[in-house]
Amino acid sequence: MAKKKTTLFECQHCGFTTPKWMGKCTNCGGWDSFVELNEQQQEIVKLTTSPSSITKATEITKIQEETIQRYSTDDMELDMVLGGGVVPGSLVLIGGSPGVGKSTLLLKIGANLALQNRNVLYVSGEESQGQIKLRANRLGATVDNLYLLAEIRLEQVLSELHERAYECIIIDSIQTLYSETIASAPGSVTQVRQITFDLMRIAKERRIAIFIIGHITKEGSIAGPRVLEHMVDVVLYFEGDSSQELRILRGFKNRFGATSEIGVFEMRCEGLVSAKNLSSRFFNRAKSQSGSALTVVMEGSRPIVLEVQALVSDTHAPNPKRQATGFDTNRLNMLLALLERKLEIPLNSYDVFVNITGGIKITETSADLAILAAIISSFRNRAISKETVFIGEVSLVGDIREVYSLDQRLKEAHSQQITKALIPKKPLEKTAIKCYEIDEVNKLLEWF
Ligand SMILES: [Zn+2]
Repeated sequence: MAKKKTTLFECQHCGFTTPKWMGKCTNCGGWDSFVELNEQQQEIVKLTTSPSSITKATEITKIQEETIQRYSTDDMELDMVLGGGVVPGSLVLIGGSPGVGKSTLLLKIGANLALQNRNVLYVSGEESQGQIKLRANRLGATVDNLYLLAEIRLEQVLSELHERAYECIIIDSIQTLYSETIASAPGSVTQVRQITFDLMRIAKERRIAIFIIGHITKEGSIAGPRVLEHMVDVVLYFEGDSSQELRILRGFKNRFGATSEIGVFEMRCEGLVSAKNLSSRFFNRAKSQSGSALTVVMEGSRPIVLEVQALVSDTHAPNPKRQATGFDTNRLNMLLALLERKLEIPLNSYDVFVNITGGIKITETSADLAILAAIISSFRNRAISKETVFIGEVSLVGDIREVYSLDQRLKEAHSQQITKALIPKKPLEKTAIKCYEIDEVNKLLEWF
Protein backbone atom coordinates (compact mmCIF):
# COMPACT_ATOMS: atom_id res chain seq x y z
CA MET A 1 0.00 0.00 0.00
CA ALA A 2 1.37 3.39 -0.94
CA LYS A 3 2.25 5.68 1.97
CA LYS A 4 -0.34 8.38 2.34
CA LYS A 5 1.14 11.81 1.77
CA THR A 6 0.72 14.05 4.78
CA THR A 7 0.06 17.72 4.35
CA LEU A 8 1.13 20.41 6.76
CA PHE A 9 0.50 24.13 6.65
CA GLU A 10 2.61 26.68 8.50
CA CYS A 11 1.85 30.26 9.54
CA GLN A 12 4.59 32.49 8.11
CA HIS A 13 4.15 34.97 10.94
CA CYS A 14 4.46 32.78 14.02
CA GLY A 15 5.41 29.28 12.83
CA PHE A 16 2.20 27.62 13.99
CA THR A 17 1.52 24.42 12.07
CA THR A 18 -1.74 22.71 11.24
CA PRO A 19 -2.79 19.82 8.97
CA LYS A 20 -5.59 21.96 7.51
CA TRP A 21 -5.34 25.31 5.75
CA MET A 22 -6.72 28.25 7.73
CA GLY A 23 -7.55 31.77 6.59
CA LYS A 24 -6.79 33.25 9.99
CA CYS A 25 -4.09 31.91 12.29
CA THR A 26 -5.56 30.77 15.60
CA ASN A 27 -2.20 31.29 17.29
CA CYS A 28 -1.21 34.83 16.28
CA GLY A 29 -4.33 36.13 14.55
CA GLY A 30 -2.52 36.75 11.25
CA TRP A 31 -4.61 36.66 8.05
CA ASP A 32 -3.75 34.64 4.97
CA SER A 33 -0.42 33.63 6.46
CA PHE A 34 -0.43 29.86 5.86
CA VAL A 35 1.60 28.10 3.19
CA GLU A 36 1.76 24.40 2.47
CA LEU A 37 5.08 22.80 3.41
CA ASN A 38 6.95 20.43 1.15
CA GLU A 39 8.46 17.21 2.48
CA GLN A 40 11.81 18.75 3.41
CA GLN A 41 10.12 21.57 5.29
CA GLN A 42 7.90 19.08 7.11
CA GLU A 43 10.99 17.19 8.20
CA ILE A 44 12.45 20.40 9.64
CA VAL A 45 9.29 21.09 11.61
CA LYS A 46 9.40 17.55 12.99
CA LEU A 47 13.09 17.82 13.85
CA THR A 48 12.92 21.21 15.54
CA THR A 49 9.77 20.70 17.57
CA SER A 50 10.28 17.22 18.97
CA PRO A 51 12.50 16.45 21.95
CA SER A 52 15.99 15.58 20.74
CA SER A 53 16.72 12.48 22.78
CA ILE A 54 14.88 9.85 24.76
CA THR A 55 15.68 9.86 28.48
CA LYS A 56 14.56 7.64 31.32
CA ALA A 57 13.35 8.75 34.72
CA THR A 58 15.96 8.74 37.50
CA GLU A 59 15.47 8.69 41.24
CA ILE A 60 15.86 12.24 42.49
CA THR A 61 18.40 11.30 45.18
CA LYS A 62 20.70 9.85 42.53
CA ILE A 63 20.77 12.94 40.37
CA GLN A 64 23.84 15.15 40.53
CA GLU A 65 23.14 18.79 41.09
CA GLU A 66 24.02 20.98 38.15
CA THR A 67 26.33 23.82 38.95
CA ILE A 68 25.99 26.59 36.44
CA GLN A 69 29.17 28.48 35.77
CA ARG A 70 28.92 31.94 34.35
CA TYR A 71 31.25 34.64 33.25
CA SER A 72 30.59 38.37 33.33
CA THR A 73 29.96 40.46 30.20
CA ASP A 74 31.48 43.44 32.04
CA ASP A 75 28.16 45.16 31.47
CA MET A 76 26.25 45.47 34.73
CA GLU A 77 22.75 45.65 33.29
CA LEU A 78 23.19 42.81 30.79
CA ASP A 79 24.68 40.57 33.51
CA MET A 80 21.66 41.39 35.66
CA VAL A 81 19.06 40.44 33.07
CA LEU A 82 21.02 37.29 32.08
CA GLY A 83 20.81 36.17 35.70
CA GLY A 84 24.45 36.85 36.61
CA GLY A 85 26.40 36.51 33.36
CA VAL A 86 26.93 34.33 30.31
CA VAL A 87 26.49 30.56 30.63
CA PRO A 88 28.82 28.63 28.29
CA GLY A 89 26.81 26.66 25.76
CA SER A 90 23.71 28.81 26.09
CA LEU A 91 21.65 30.16 23.23
CA VAL A 92 20.35 33.66 23.94
CA LEU A 93 17.79 35.49 21.80
CA ILE A 94 17.78 39.29 21.97
CA GLY A 95 14.81 40.78 20.17
CA GLY A 96 13.51 44.27 19.58
CA SER A 97 12.40 46.76 16.98
CA PRO A 98 14.96 47.92 14.40
CA GLY A 99 17.17 50.76 15.62
CA VAL A 100 16.63 50.07 19.33
CA GLY A 101 20.36 49.34 19.74
CA LYS A 102 20.70 45.55 19.61
CA SER A 103 23.71 45.54 17.27
CA THR A 104 25.69 48.25 19.07
CA LEU A 105 25.07 46.61 22.43
CA LEU A 106 26.21 43.18 21.29
CA LEU A 107 29.24 44.48 19.40
CA LYS A 108 30.34 46.17 22.62
CA ILE A 109 29.64 43.01 24.61
CA GLY A 110 31.67 41.05 22.06
CA ALA A 111 34.57 43.44 22.65
CA ASN A 112 34.20 43.13 26.43
CA LEU A 113 34.43 39.33 26.18
CA ALA A 114 37.37 39.53 23.77
CA LEU A 115 39.20 41.68 26.31
CA GLN A 116 38.84 38.76 28.73
CA ASN A 117 40.95 36.74 26.27
CA ARG A 118 38.01 34.90 24.76
CA ASN A 119 37.69 34.41 21.01
CA VAL A 120 34.50 36.09 19.87
CA LEU A 121 32.94 35.81 16.41
CA TYR A 122 30.59 38.57 15.27
CA VAL A 123 28.60 37.43 12.24
CA SER A 124 26.74 40.15 10.38
CA GLY A 125 24.42 39.68 7.47
CA GLU A 126 23.36 43.30 7.72
CA GLU A 127 26.59 45.22 7.23
CA SER A 128 29.99 44.85 5.56
CA GLN A 129 33.15 44.30 7.61
CA GLY A 130 34.18 47.90 6.89
CA GLN A 131 30.91 49.27 8.22
CA ILE A 132 31.15 47.17 11.37
CA LYS A 133 34.76 48.27 11.86
CA LEU A 134 33.62 51.90 11.67
CA ARG A 135 30.99 51.27 14.31
CA ALA A 136 33.48 49.34 16.45
CA ASN A 137 35.86 52.31 16.38
CA ARG A 138 33.10 54.56 17.62
CA LEU A 139 32.21 52.10 20.39
CA GLY A 140 35.82 51.54 21.42
CA ALA A 141 35.35 47.91 20.42
CA THR A 142 38.41 47.53 18.16
CA VAL A 143 40.19 44.89 20.20
CA ASP A 144 42.17 41.69 19.63
CA ASN A 145 40.30 38.35 19.73
CA LEU A 146 37.14 39.92 18.25
CA TYR A 147 36.59 38.51 14.74
CA LEU A 148 34.17 39.90 12.18
CA LEU A 149 32.47 37.84 9.51
CA ALA A 150 30.14 39.48 7.01
CA GLU A 151 28.23 36.42 5.87
CA ILE A 152 24.70 35.24 5.34
CA ARG A 153 25.33 31.56 4.57
CA LEU A 154 25.13 29.35 7.62
CA GLU A 155 27.51 26.80 6.06
CA GLN A 156 30.23 29.47 5.82
CA VAL A 157 29.69 30.46 9.42
CA LEU A 158 30.02 26.84 10.52
CA SER A 159 33.24 26.32 8.57
CA GLU A 160 34.68 29.43 10.25
CA LEU A 161 34.33 27.57 13.55
CA HIS A 162 37.17 25.25 12.46
CA GLU A 163 39.54 28.21 12.30
CA ARG A 164 39.86 28.74 16.03
CA ALA A 165 38.24 27.90 19.35
CA TYR A 166 35.46 30.46 19.74
CA GLU A 167 33.81 30.92 23.11
CA CYS A 168 31.10 33.28 21.95
CA ILE A 169 29.27 33.87 18.66
CA ILE A 170 26.99 36.82 17.92
CA ILE A 171 24.53 36.42 15.04
CA ASP A 172 23.27 39.72 13.61
CA SER A 173 20.57 38.87 12.67
CA ILE A 174 18.80 35.51 12.53
CA GLN A 175 16.57 36.84 9.74
CA THR A 176 19.45 37.50 7.36
CA LEU A 177 21.14 34.12 7.80
CA TYR A 178 20.16 31.28 5.50
CA SER A 179 21.09 27.68 4.91
CA GLU A 180 21.87 26.57 1.36
CA THR A 181 20.41 23.14 2.07
CA ILE A 182 16.91 24.51 2.56
CA ALA A 183 14.82 25.60 -0.37
CA SER A 184 13.05 28.45 1.45
CA ALA A 185 13.73 32.17 1.31
CA PRO A 186 16.05 33.80 3.92
CA GLY A 187 14.00 35.00 6.87
CA SER A 188 11.21 32.49 6.27
CA VAL A 189 9.91 30.43 9.16
CA THR A 190 11.51 27.25 7.82
CA GLN A 191 14.94 28.87 7.54
CA VAL A 192 14.78 30.52 10.95
CA ARG A 193 13.69 27.26 12.53
CA GLN A 194 16.40 25.10 10.99
CA ILE A 195 19.21 27.62 11.56
CA THR A 196 18.29 28.07 15.19
CA PHE A 197 18.20 24.33 15.61
CA ASP A 198 21.69 24.01 14.09
CA LEU A 199 23.01 26.83 16.27
CA MET A 200 21.54 25.19 19.35
CA ARG A 201 23.36 21.98 18.56
CA ILE A 202 26.66 23.79 18.09
CA ALA A 203 26.19 25.75 21.30
CA LYS A 204 25.62 22.56 23.29
CA GLU A 205 28.27 20.41 21.59
CA ARG A 206 31.07 22.94 21.73
CA ARG A 207 29.99 24.86 24.84
CA ILE A 208 29.90 28.12 22.88
CA ALA A 209 27.62 30.90 24.09
CA ILE A 210 25.60 32.14 21.12
CA PHE A 211 23.68 35.42 21.04
CA ILE A 212 21.05 35.72 18.34
CA ILE A 213 19.66 39.11 17.34
CA GLY A 214 16.06 39.01 16.11
CA HIS A 215 14.18 41.95 14.63
CA ILE A 216 10.57 42.43 15.49
CA THR A 217 8.57 44.25 12.85
CA LYS A 218 4.96 45.28 13.13
CA GLU A 219 4.18 44.15 9.59
CA GLY A 220 5.29 40.60 10.27
CA SER A 221 6.72 40.37 6.74
CA ILE A 222 9.65 38.36 8.05
CA ALA A 223 9.38 35.51 10.50
CA GLY A 224 9.30 36.90 13.99
CA PRO A 225 11.63 35.75 16.75
CA ARG A 226 8.60 34.13 18.39
CA VAL A 227 9.13 31.11 16.17
CA LEU A 228 12.34 30.30 18.00
CA GLU A 229 11.39 31.25 21.55
CA HIS A 230 10.78 27.65 22.57
CA MET A 231 14.11 26.46 21.15
CA VAL A 232 16.49 28.90 22.83
CA ASP A 233 17.62 29.00 26.48
CA VAL A 234 17.12 32.69 27.15
CA VAL A 235 14.71 35.19 25.59
CA LEU A 236 15.26 38.91 26.14
CA TYR A 237 13.21 41.64 24.47
CA PHE A 238 13.76 45.36 24.28
CA GLU A 239 10.67 47.30 25.27
CA GLY A 240 9.70 50.42 23.40
CA ASP A 241 11.52 51.85 20.41
CA SER A 242 14.41 54.04 19.37
CA SER A 243 12.64 57.28 20.34
CA GLN A 244 13.09 56.65 24.05
CA GLU A 245 16.07 57.80 26.03
CA LEU A 246 16.14 54.73 28.26
CA ARG A 247 15.84 51.26 26.74
CA ILE A 248 14.53 48.45 28.89
CA LEU A 249 15.67 44.88 28.21
CA ARG A 250 13.26 42.46 29.84
CA GLY A 251 13.72 38.75 30.39
CA PHE A 252 10.89 36.50 29.18
CA LYS A 253 12.52 33.13 29.52
CA ASN A 254 15.69 31.96 31.23
CA ARG A 255 16.59 28.31 31.70
CA PHE A 256 19.43 29.33 34.00
CA GLY A 257 17.82 31.91 36.23
CA ALA A 258 14.90 34.15 37.11
CA THR A 259 13.13 36.15 34.44
CA SER A 260 12.01 38.93 36.74
CA GLU A 261 15.00 41.20 36.27
CA ILE A 262 15.27 43.97 33.74
CA GLY A 263 18.29 45.66 32.24
CA VAL A 264 18.21 49.43 31.76
CA PHE A 265 20.36 50.97 29.05
CA GLU A 266 20.78 54.44 27.66
CA MET A 267 21.76 55.57 24.19
CA ARG A 268 24.91 57.67 24.22
CA CYS A 269 27.14 58.76 21.37
CA GLU A 270 29.29 55.67 21.98
CA GLY A 271 26.27 53.38 21.71
CA LEU A 272 23.90 51.62 24.06
CA VAL A 273 25.40 51.37 27.55
CA SER A 274 24.23 50.47 31.05
CA ALA A 275 22.23 53.37 32.47
CA LYS A 276 23.87 55.24 35.33
CA ASN A 277 22.10 56.69 38.40
CA LEU A 278 19.13 54.51 37.68
CA SER A 279 17.21 55.46 40.79
CA SER A 280 16.58 59.06 39.79
CA ARG A 281 16.00 58.47 36.07
CA PHE A 282 12.32 57.60 36.13
CA PHE A 283 10.87 60.71 37.68
CA ASN A 284 11.23 64.44 37.59
CA ARG A 285 11.30 65.97 41.03
CA ALA A 286 11.69 69.53 39.78
CA LYS A 287 8.14 70.73 40.10
CA SER A 288 4.80 69.53 41.26
CA GLN A 289 2.16 69.51 38.55
CA SER A 290 -1.40 68.29 38.42
CA GLY A 291 -1.80 64.80 36.95
CA SER A 292 1.46 63.46 38.28
CA ALA A 293 2.03 61.05 41.18
CA LEU A 294 5.01 59.02 42.35
CA THR A 295 5.12 55.34 43.23
CA VAL A 296 7.77 52.69 43.86
CA VAL A 297 7.68 49.46 41.84
CA MET A 298 9.88 46.38 42.16
CA GLU A 299 11.70 45.37 39.01
CA GLY A 300 13.17 42.04 39.98
CA SER A 301 15.27 42.70 43.05
CA ARG A 302 15.41 46.46 42.52
CA PRO A 303 12.95 49.06 43.77
CA ILE A 304 12.47 51.97 41.33
CA VAL A 305 10.70 55.28 41.98
CA LEU A 306 8.42 55.95 39.00
CA GLU A 307 6.32 58.89 37.92
CA VAL A 308 2.78 58.13 36.84
CA GLN A 309 1.10 60.76 34.67
CA ALA A 310 -2.58 61.15 33.88
CA LEU A 311 -4.52 63.54 31.70
CA VAL A 312 -8.28 63.84 32.11
CA SER A 313 -9.96 66.02 29.51
CA ASP A 314 -13.51 66.77 28.26
CA THR A 315 -14.69 64.60 25.42
CA HIS A 316 -17.34 65.13 22.79
CA ALA A 317 -17.13 61.61 21.45
CA PRO A 318 -19.85 59.10 22.41
CA ASN A 319 -17.14 56.68 23.58
CA PRO A 320 -14.53 58.44 25.70
CA LYS A 321 -10.93 57.45 25.02
CA ARG A 322 -8.94 55.41 27.51
CA GLN A 323 -5.30 55.09 26.64
CA ALA A 324 -2.39 53.80 28.67
CA THR A 325 1.31 53.68 27.84
CA GLY A 326 3.34 51.41 30.09
CA PHE A 327 0.25 50.24 31.98
CA ASP A 328 -2.40 47.62 31.24
CA THR A 329 -5.45 49.24 29.60
CA ASN A 330 -7.87 46.69 31.08
CA ARG A 331 -6.61 47.46 34.56
CA LEU A 332 -6.97 51.18 33.84
CA ASN A 333 -10.61 50.61 32.83
CA MET A 334 -11.20 48.76 36.08
CA LEU A 335 -9.70 51.59 38.13
CA LEU A 336 -11.77 54.17 36.24
CA ALA A 337 -14.96 52.21 36.87
CA LEU A 338 -14.06 52.17 40.53
CA LEU A 339 -13.54 55.93 40.61
CA GLU A 340 -16.97 56.48 39.06
CA ARG A 341 -18.68 54.08 41.37
CA LYS A 342 -16.99 54.72 44.71
CA LEU A 343 -15.94 58.35 44.41
CA GLU A 344 -18.74 59.44 42.09
CA ILE A 345 -16.38 61.12 39.68
CA PRO A 346 -18.25 61.37 36.34
CA LEU A 347 -15.43 60.11 34.16
CA ASN A 348 -17.71 58.85 31.37
CA SER A 349 -17.69 62.29 29.79
CA TYR A 350 -13.90 62.57 29.89
CA ASP A 351 -11.01 61.11 27.94
CA VAL A 352 -8.37 59.59 30.18
CA PHE A 353 -4.73 59.09 29.22
CA VAL A 354 -2.15 57.45 31.46
CA ASN A 355 1.57 57.36 30.89
CA ILE A 356 4.47 55.86 32.83
CA THR A 357 7.59 57.93 32.32
CA GLY A 358 10.94 56.51 31.24
CA GLY A 359 9.51 53.87 28.90
CA ILE A 360 9.04 51.27 31.63
CA LYS A 361 6.09 48.87 31.55
CA ILE A 362 4.50 48.30 34.93
CA THR A 363 3.95 44.60 35.45
CA GLU A 364 2.68 44.61 39.04
CA THR A 365 -0.34 46.04 40.79
CA SER A 366 1.38 48.17 43.43
CA ALA A 367 1.07 51.26 41.21
CA ASP A 368 -2.79 51.21 41.29
CA LEU A 369 -2.99 53.77 44.07
CA ALA A 370 -0.62 56.15 42.27
CA ILE A 371 -2.63 55.81 39.04
CA LEU A 372 -5.81 56.77 40.90
CA ALA A 373 -4.03 59.68 42.59
CA ALA A 374 -2.73 60.97 39.26
CA ILE A 375 -6.19 60.75 37.67
CA ILE A 376 -7.89 62.57 40.56
CA SER A 377 -5.10 65.14 40.55
CA SER A 378 -5.64 65.85 36.85
CA PHE A 379 -9.44 65.86 37.18
CA ARG A 380 -9.38 68.37 40.01
CA ASN A 381 -6.39 70.23 38.62
CA ARG A 382 -4.52 70.02 41.92
CA ALA A 383 -0.87 69.20 42.07
CA ILE A 384 0.49 66.51 44.37
CA SER A 385 3.73 67.17 46.19
CA LYS A 386 6.73 65.37 44.74
CA GLU A 387 7.64 64.42 48.28
CA THR A 388 4.86 61.86 48.48
CA VAL A 389 4.70 58.32 47.10
CA PHE A 390 1.59 56.19 46.66
CA ILE A 391 2.01 52.44 47.05
CA GLY A 392 -0.85 49.96 47.08
CA GLU A 393 -2.95 47.55 45.08
CA VAL A 394 -6.60 48.50 44.63
CA SER A 395 -9.19 45.73 44.74
CA LEU A 396 -12.47 45.60 42.83
CA VAL A 397 -14.41 46.60 45.93
CA GLY A 398 -12.19 49.57 46.64
CA ASP A 399 -9.93 48.20 49.37
CA ILE A 400 -6.27 49.06 49.29
CA ARG A 401 -4.25 45.86 49.50
CA GLU A 402 -0.78 45.28 50.82
CA VAL A 403 2.16 44.83 48.48
CA TYR A 404 5.36 42.78 48.85
CA SER A 405 8.77 44.23 49.73
CA LEU A 406 7.24 47.36 51.26
CA ASP A 407 10.26 48.05 53.47
CA GLN A 408 12.57 47.95 50.49
CA ARG A 409 10.33 50.31 48.53
CA LEU A 410 10.13 52.80 51.39
CA LYS A 411 13.88 52.72 51.83
CA GLU A 412 14.37 53.53 48.16
CA ALA A 413 11.82 56.38 48.35
CA HIS A 414 13.67 57.78 51.35
CA SER A 415 16.97 57.67 49.47
CA GLN A 416 15.31 59.83 46.80
CA GLN A 417 14.46 62.52 49.39
CA ILE A 418 10.80 61.53 49.53
CA THR A 419 9.33 62.26 52.94
CA LYS A 420 5.76 60.92 52.87
CA ALA A 421 4.18 57.64 51.82
CA LEU A 422 0.55 56.59 51.47
CA ILE A 423 0.48 52.84 52.05
CA PRO A 424 -2.11 50.16 52.88
CA LYS A 425 -0.72 49.34 56.30
CA LYS A 426 2.07 50.81 58.36
CA PRO A 427 5.16 48.61 58.61
CA LEU A 428 5.95 47.17 62.04
CA GLU A 429 9.41 48.64 62.11
CA LYS A 430 10.05 52.33 62.33
CA THR A 431 10.75 53.94 58.97
CA ALA A 432 12.70 57.05 58.11
CA ILE A 433 9.80 58.18 55.96
CA LYS A 434 6.45 59.37 57.33
CA CYS A 435 3.81 56.75 56.58
CA TYR A 436 0.06 57.29 56.32
CA GLU A 437 -2.29 54.35 56.28
CA ILE A 438 -5.00 54.25 53.65
CA ASP A 439 -7.28 51.21 53.54
CA GLU A 440 -10.07 52.39 51.25
CA VAL A 441 -10.14 54.18 47.96
CA ASN A 442 -12.58 56.91 49.04
CA LYS A 443 -10.14 58.09 51.69
CA LEU A 444 -7.86 59.14 48.87
CA LEU A 445 -10.01 62.25 48.31
CA GLU A 446 -8.88 63.66 51.65
CA TRP A 447 -5.49 64.19 50.08
CA PHE A 448 -6.73 66.65 47.50
ZN1 LIG B 1 0.38 32.64 13.23
